[in-house]
Amino acid sequence: MNKISLRRCNKYDTAEIIPVLRQSLEDLQFDPSAVKDKRVLLKPNMLGAFPPEAHVTTHPAFVEACAMLFKEHGAQVIVGDSSNGIYPVDEVWNVTGIRRAAELAGAEIAPFEKSGSVDKNGIRLAKASLNADIMVNLPKFKTHGLTYLTLAVKNLFGCIPGMIKTDCHRNNIDRRDFARLLVRVSETLKPELTIMDAITGMHGNGPSGGNPIDMGLIISGRNIHSLDAVCCKLVNINPSDLDTLCHAEKLGVFDPNAKIDIIGEHLDSLSFKNFEMPSTFVGKKLDWGISKLTLSLFWRHMNARPQIDPSRCQRCGLCLKSCPVGAIGWKGKDTGSAPKIDNDICIQCFCCHEVCPYQAIDIKRSALAKLNQKLDQWIGRRRVKQ
Ligand code: SF4
Ligand code: SF4
Repeated sequence: MNKISLRRCNKYDTAEIIPVLRQSLEDLQFDPSAVKDKRVLLKPNMLGAFPPEAHVTTHPAFVEACAMLFKEHGAQVIVGDSSNGIYPVDEVWNVTGIRRAAELAGAEIAPFEKSGSVDKNGIRLAKASLNADIMVNLPKFKTHGLTYLTLAVKNLFGCIPGMIKTDCHRNNIDRRDFARLLVRVSETLKPELTIMDAITGMHGNGPSGGNPIDMGLIISGRNIHSLDAVCCKLVNINPSDLDTLCHAEKLGVFDPNAKIDIIGEHLDSLSFKNFEMPSTFVGKKLDWGISKLTLSLFWRHMNARPQIDPSRCQRCGLCLKSCPVGAIGWKGKDTGSAPKIDNDICIQCFCCHEVCPYQAIDIKRSALAKLNQKLDQWIGRRRVKQ
């Protein structure tokens, strides 16, 4: 079954979301009565202590609507996730509004940091992420500095609890290695369903420092990779530009040539032409070769790098805690200076950019890199249209 449901929904209002969810499940031929007496784990995106209006995390009204729907069909619903490990756990659950959403729907909560972890297929996963009969993945449609987009596969990285994520970055410095890890996580957990909050997404320099973009959609599917591929097409990039989809193809769990049945809205009528990819984005599968050549010749100058803006920095120190390789230091803290990044140590994982609550860390590219990016996007978008 390779069906993806695209349904319109323009408002974070549980009464409006629930009928759209029902329609989406019907599109996927998922019989909701199958959840009766089952433990259903909802896995939203709870990146950090960001309020719903920041559109960094899955919206609480969306989580509440999903929980209510499965409760209505007799499931025992649990909402679980872990943030990047930098923010206090309770603060994340309170500020995102997801604790309240679970309470309103009569669901339990499972902060993954508190459940302990177990080794499964060589990955440390939260025990609570493995305790359910049915897992339903609830990602938010966003951009991401390292993985370009954070969609269905990337959302499951939250099942690796707290600071263990930092080790994962340290041990997978190359973005392709990191993508391999993400696909291993998704293939280990194999969520039954993914229902994506794309009512308001985030573009630009996500996953926390970008800008909200109204997309007015709920995107659902059973095949997690097909769903990610459809999302790429919605924002005019080639699915092969995502390392996760390339690796899924190599593993034989995603066939880019297989037909995907899109149910609901027509893909062509939904193209988000103004959607901005992150500054780090470089289309990777370039058949014309020039970009690859320039990248290899000028890599140090082409690479995007994080840069702290001292005028916006509030000296909270969270970026230092997030850095897996200790590239950020406090030289001059006593004099009130902002932290500094040592570019010789930095591995460009962009965790610091992701956690900064004040959007004080920019992603900078050289003029050459910007030119290369424009060419990539132009070529990539032409290719997507063909
Ligand atoms: S750059 Fe951001 S995360 Fe780092 S100390 Fe400044 S405000 Fe805090
Ligand atoms: S400075 Fe930022 S981007 Fe560089 S390694 Fe540390 S957390 Fe990652």
